[in-house]
Amino acid sequence: MSERSEFRDLGMDRRIDRRDFLNGVAIGLGAVSTGLHARPASASEARQTGQSLSADAYPPRRLGLRGQHATAVEAFGAIQSGTFAAFPGIDVDTRETYDLVIVGGGLSGLSAAYFWQKALGAGQRVLILDNHDDFGGHAKRNEFVYNGRTYLSFGGTMSIATPYPYSYMSKRLVEDLGVDVTKNAEVTSRELFDTYGLGPSTFFDKEHFGEDRLVVGTGRLPWDQFFAKAPLSEAARKDLIRLYGENPDYMAELSVEQKLATLDKISYQEFLLKYARMSPDALPFFLGQGGRNNKRVDTTPALEAARRGSVGFDGLGLPKEEQFRQGSYTFHFPDGNASIARLLVSRMMPKAIPGTHDMHSIVRAAVEYGKLDDDASNVRVRLNSTVTRVAHDGAVDNADVVKVAYLRDGRMHQVRGRNVVLACYNAMIPNLAPELPAAQREALAYSVKVPMLYTNVLIRRWTAFKQLGVASINAPGMYHPSNSLDPGTTVGGYRGMTTPEEPIVVHMVRNPNQPGLKRKEQNRIGQQELRTMKFEEFELSIRRQFARMLAGTNFDPAVDIVGMAVNRWPDGYSYTYDTLADPDVPPEQRPHVIGRQRFGRIAIANSDAGAAAFTNQAFDEAHRAVQEILVSRGLA
Ligand SMILES: Cc1cc2nc3c(=O)[nH]c(=O)nc-3n(C[C@H](O)[C@H](O)[C@H](O)COP(=O)(O)OP(=O)(O)OC[C@H]3O[C@@H](n4cnc5c(N)ncnc54)[C@H](O)[C@@H]3O)c2cc1C
Repeated sequence: MSERSEFRDLGMDRRIDRRDFLNGVAIGLGAVSTGLHARPASASEARQTGQSLSADAYPPRRLGLRGQHATAVEAFGAIQSGTFAAFPGIDVDTRETYDLVIVGGGLSGLSAAYFWQKALGAGQRVLILDNHDDFGGHAKRNEFVYNGRTYLSFGGTMSIATPYPYSYMSKRLVEDLGVDVTKNAEVTSRELFDTYGLGPSTFFDKEHFGEDRLVVGTGRLPWDQFFAKAPLSEAARKDLIRLYGENPDYMAELSVEQKLATLDKISYQEFLLKYARMSPDALPFFLGQGGRNNKRVDTTPALEAARRGSVGFDGLGLPKEEQFRQGSYTFHFPDGNASIARLLVSRMMPKAIPGTHDMHSIVRAAVEYGKLDDDASNVRVRLNSTVTRVAHDGAVDNADVVKVAYLRDGRMHQVRGRNVVLACYNAMIPNLAPELPAAQREALAYSVKVPMLYTNVLIRRWTAFKQLGVASINAPGMYHPSNSLDPGTTVGGYRGMTTPEEPIVVHMVRNPNQPGLKRKEQNRIGQQELRTMKFEEFELSIRRQFARMLAGTNFDPAVDIVGMAVNRWPDGYSYTYDTLADPDVPPEQRPHVIGRQRFGRIAIANSDAGAAAFTNQAFDEAHRAVQEILVSRGLA
């Protein structure tokens, strides 16, 4: 097939809901999708007309390349290469002085503002600066409108895990925001798919398995029947059936203590190949399977895999606690944790999100983006503002304020904060504040965030999924290994459920990596991939993948794909430590602990400062940072 006819067949020439923000840059909203109409320009106008907002007035409606969209990160390279080591020349001195300036409007930055006001009162003036066109950081909302109906989705962090890992502070904050996590079962229903008999499946691709084949029933069919249907060599099939069944003790010559010590120092892959004697032919089956924090089969310590309940360890006779399957149920809004960001904003900036909101009403609450940075409000969020430098105005111990320089509309601005919380990325902080002690800068630069790609594709019907009997497709060798139908979260008047003849969002996830290298190296390569790939390249790979996974059904990528949001996060999950990649040092000597020390009037929040990629970490680190300033300045 010629490239041109493939493009046409896949629908690359179709006008769908994605190209109005090609590579993050507006190219004119005339090019809107089928089923879309001219939209009102403000939330109040939208309320009056009952229509959804236009993408220029309302960032969640911007589709195409989202997440860290191009304009948001265009100054990051200059910051990271030390361009602003000397405090930059200022084009616009706003002459504003805030009680607190926060760098980063993710869940950590927003909650820092909330904790600050809780401690010192609503009269405190707080400015939050963020480089994106929307607030929330990873808590990103994607909104599709098709034939008059709105479909919500999450472009980043999806769920609140509860109750086990949450600190007292974080639990109280979630409650203060009116979220009752025990209600998850009421709002998110996977029964919808059970009604149609849809379940998990695996797509074996020809590049890794010799031919394209979808096998339905992963984990539901007895494993011997499942692998019998898969295109595998006889050796691989036999090994996989053994691994997924009763395993012998592959380390019989070792004591339990020796087993634990060995598993701690080898990768899961090494365990599978060397100890479980799995044929290398079977390895591609494990490609898409990540561990916690998206460690892969080659970077997950075997002991971590065993504790997670991965296959192959059941004959080892490990103590029960070494085999428990981690996990807790989760609360999930249709737009993921973007609703948490919205609840925080509504509590602090009632003009931006009018009304008193809880977990129900927030989902459809109108957001006046024009009121986020309002003179009359004590808490303000200033978007599209990339902070390039922060410095005490004078000696650290004597300065009354911290100067904060930020780029907005191509011009260098300056505000002052009596206090500053850096709720951005640890690895960037050494360049934002080069006055920090050398050991602290080195510690902050230690972590390499995990790159993540969360793609949302709106399809106009899911009859093909029904025809195949699948609700999710694990495609170990494909560009997006994880593919699943939206579970249909229905809350606060938003109806996420659809019937197979109606549209649905398909979530596709990729953690770009380069198997075989050290974990940090893999992360760096993955970050580079996400930073450099063009939207059209993502789109082509998505369309090709749909065509292959759903081959033989009535699915036609050219007409069935009606919207696309590719949320790229080169700066994704916070880095976490493990026994393969990081030195074994006491907890207080970990780089994130050394890195997050307060420096004069500057404190450090964000989930990197907790070395864990979770909502509660974002909150806990915000609380700690605020507390450090309050105590050190005698403000509490
Ligand atoms: C794809 C994805 C899925 C996830 N899923 C979950 C989940 O389901 N559950 C969960 O608990 N956690 C999840 N996480 C982890 C998530 O990172 C945390 O839960 C939390 O949202 C992090 O909040 P934060 O404020 O620390 O960081 P961020 O959300 O990254 O916010 C930091 C903000 O600072 C901004 N910033 C950086 N540098 C500058 C600068 N120089 N100037 C101005 N602004 C700057 C950033 O752009 C960003 O907006 C997920 C993360 C990703 C990437």
